[in-house]
Amino acid sequence: MISIVNPTTRPPRCFALLPCAGSGSRAGTAVPKQYQPVAGVPMVRHTLAAFAAVPRIARVLVVVAPGDEVLAADASVSIAACGGVTRAESVFNGLATLRAQGARDGDWVLVHDAARCLVTPAQIDALIDACLPDAVGGLLALPLPDTLKAEHGGRAAATIDRDHKWLAQTPQMFRLGLLHGALAERAATGFAGITDEASAVEAAGLQPLLVRGSARNIKVTYPEDFALAEAVLSAARPPEGAKAPLGGSAACEAAERGGTLGSREK
Ligand code: C5P
Repeated sequence: MISIVNPTTRPPRCFALLPCAGSGSRAGTAVPKQYQPVAGVPMVRHTLAAFAAVPRIARVLVVVAPGDEVLAADASVSIAACGGVTRAESVFNGLATLRAQGARDGDWVLVHDAARCLVTPAQIDALIDACLPDAVGGLLALPLPDTLKAEHGGRAAATIDRDHKWLAQTPQMFRLGLLHGALAERAATGFAGITDEASAVEAAGLQPLLVRGSARNIKVTYPEDFALAEAVLSAARPPEGAKAPLGGSAACEAAERGGTLGSREK
């Protein structure tokens, strides 16, 4: 039985957990895709910079593969070399590490793919604002924009009704105890069918909140995605002393905020 009640009386904190232990075989890169240079630095550095710009994130835990020493810990980032065979196992192991480091069941965890390096602080803040008052938690997602096809033998066999269908993104924000318990219930099956945190929470009988994200928040997966990420991040970094170009991160964030975000907790 999974509890969705905060068992602590202390105000909950927000932690970020970045699964960063994949091999990224679909990306076709020489190094795991999260370490492939994008706009001059390893991709995961952009992801970390977005979380570093959100004051409500108390600490970031990066889960890397055993033996991976590419990243170094600092004052606000911890590294745990406890990556698993699947993304779900990496997250499950990371949650145990957070617990061992003093995080409590009532604290919130924002799980975010290291490979979604275009996430913005405004998007992270929007998810926190939406989920903090919610009993279950939720995820960034986008209503499906395209027509969806079922494939059979390389041909379109059917068109699937796209009403009420959303594309799941990350971060996904849940209470530590709830998410760890939901994943624990799937561990015996090797986390079969668990492709994100929300799917584990759904399997536990709960309905995560869908928080509208942005098409910018892609998961860099295929070789062509790197050029797109590079273009967005390069445009967002103006020359010293210059104003951010139109379409840069300042413009994106202003548009994404749309005046709906509340003031940040200190
Ligand atoms: O492979 P995919 O793009 O779905 O991976 C999403 C995220 O999960 C990436 O940041 C990747 O490094 C991470 N991952 C992981 N452990 C695995 C597989 C993927 O931490 N075993």
